[in-house]
Amino acid sequence: MTVKGISPTAIATYVTCKYKYYLRYLLGLREQDEIEETMEANTMGTAIHAVFETVYKEVTGKPLEINWVKQVAKDNKRIEEALQIGFNKRFDNDALMQGENHLYYSISLKMIELFFNNEIHQLEELKANNSSLTVVAVEELLDSTVQVGDVPVLIKGTSDRIELEGNILRIADFKSGKSGKVELKQEELDLIFTDKKYAKHAQLLTYALAYTLKYPETPFPIKSGIYWLQDMAKGFDALTINGDDLLSKEMIQHFQELLRSLFAEMLDPGTPFLKTDDRDACRYCDFKGICKR
Ligand code: SF4
Repeated sequence: MTVKGISPTAIATYVTCKYKYYLRYLLGLREQDEIEETMEANTMGTAIHAVFETVYKEVTGKPLEINWVKQVAKDNKRIEEALQIGFNKRFDNDALMQGENHLYYSISLKMIELFFNNEIHQLEELKANNSSLTVVAVEELLDSTVQVGDVPVLIKGTSDRIELEGNILRIADFKSGKSGKVELKQEELDLIFTDKKYAKHAQLLTYALAYTLKYPETPFPIKSGIYWLQDMAKGFDALTINGDDLLSKEMIQHFQELLRSLFAEMLDPGTPFLKTDDRDACRYCDFKGICKR
């Protein structure tokens, strides 16, 4: 945590199951060390990210134009080439075009198509409101330090997309898994590290904190949210607190204090890495064999 850093995903894993965090991040057991024979959901997510990174890199820093997005969305050759490069870390093209893998490849293309359709829709809406959307950065490394007593803890994660909605900064995460709700009540904020149902909320606030620590001049309020690739009808699904999607400086500072306490617990050698009581979390866990769950 102090040298290699801890990612927002690792924090979410700790919130979900401390034992899983221990296996994955302290013992370094990989969930997928071997080459896959068939596609896994996170492989699909990684390949789709690669497409968005390739495409949006060329237009960072200037407002997105609807016609540009329409043009890119129609450029099947370019999209497929970028997608195949994304998949080629795991599969060569022969393996990719067969059986179940081909099905996932087609699903990925559909998700990308729906993402661009949503992008066009949100740009039209913003334009109607005299606003705009600017991609500021893609795949930006957010490395920031939170001091826990004398110990500096490095938060290290990659944000999928940083964007500006008019003048409001938005930190966007692309998720290819099942969609969920990212709403919090004010009183739930203090419980954010106590239950796996808040893991995604904690991840979004960690990105927001890491970004604003890295760029202290960032004007508040900001937004932090998710593009659910399986549910693009939601568009940019911003985290809300008491129904408000604007995150103030005070909220982020309060979250930083909560995170500091969590880090103190994680750094305490007396803290046991217990298995979660929530059997639901075990259903799709790759370590359930080790755990006998
Ligand atoms: S199977 Fe359950 S208890 Fe074991 S590591 Fe996974 S989530 Fe934790």
